[in-house]
Amino acid sequence: MRIVLLGAPGAGKGTQAKKISDKFGISHVSTGDILRSELKNNTELGMKANEYMKEGKLVPDELIIEIIRKKIEKESREPEFLMDGFPRTFVQAQKFDEMLAGLGISLDKVINIDVDEDELIKRLTSRRVCHECSGICSINNFNSEDEAKCPICGGSLYKRKDDDREVIKERLKVYEKQTMPLIDYYSRNGILFSISGSGSENEIFERVLTLL
Ligand code: ADP
Ligand code: ZN
Repeated sequence: MRIVLLGAPGAGKGTQAKKISDKFGISHVSTGDILRSELKNNTELGMKANEYMKEGKLVPDELIIEIIRKKIEKESREPEFLMDGFPRTFVQAQKFDEMLAGLGISLDKVINIDVDEDELIKRLTSRRVCHECSGICSINNFNSEDEAKCPICGGSLYKRKDDDREVIKERLKVYEKQTMPLIDYYSRNGILFSISGSGSENEIFERVLTLL
């Protein structure tokens, strides 16, 4: 299975990606997680990427494409994967198609998770991430910030630096301008499927499953 998850920041790509990769046993590739882990390890790539991430801008295409190339080449000859947060620009989508064509494979489906902007802002401002398992949850599920613990593993939580209100606005603008055109790109290829991303995690997962 070769799947791309498309959707705005806060649409729930990461949450659904974890559920899908658990169920089907395919590798979950999140470029955002990869970049954050590079930054945590103070690598050159991580520090460079952070210049863009902290402002809500996209990291340059060349850097991202290299990350994906390495990931894909490391896998088997016919890699299976679930892409979360990649591709995000026209250039990335084209290079990705070329890369896959070079391996004699192609994407099966692109699943677009659709959520309206007010809801996205609400979700992103209340989003917290687990230090231990990188699970995602909402601070609204707890009485106070102090009581908040990861519902999956009990680990402590943090707020992503780019989940700050001003940076969120920029990320949504960038999404509209640079990533939304991919909906059209994949529609033309006949592999785009859109679902509503509102409702509970499990409701959304049910919608995803009807497509797989
Ligand atoms: P979100 O989808 O919630 O914005 P991600 O974790 O997917 O969060 O991405 C966080 C940041 O990492 C982005 O704002 C961007 O700076 C960078 N990034 C992640 N994936 C890509 C990509 N494919 N191309 C360019 N930049 C990326
Ligand atoms: Zn956790």
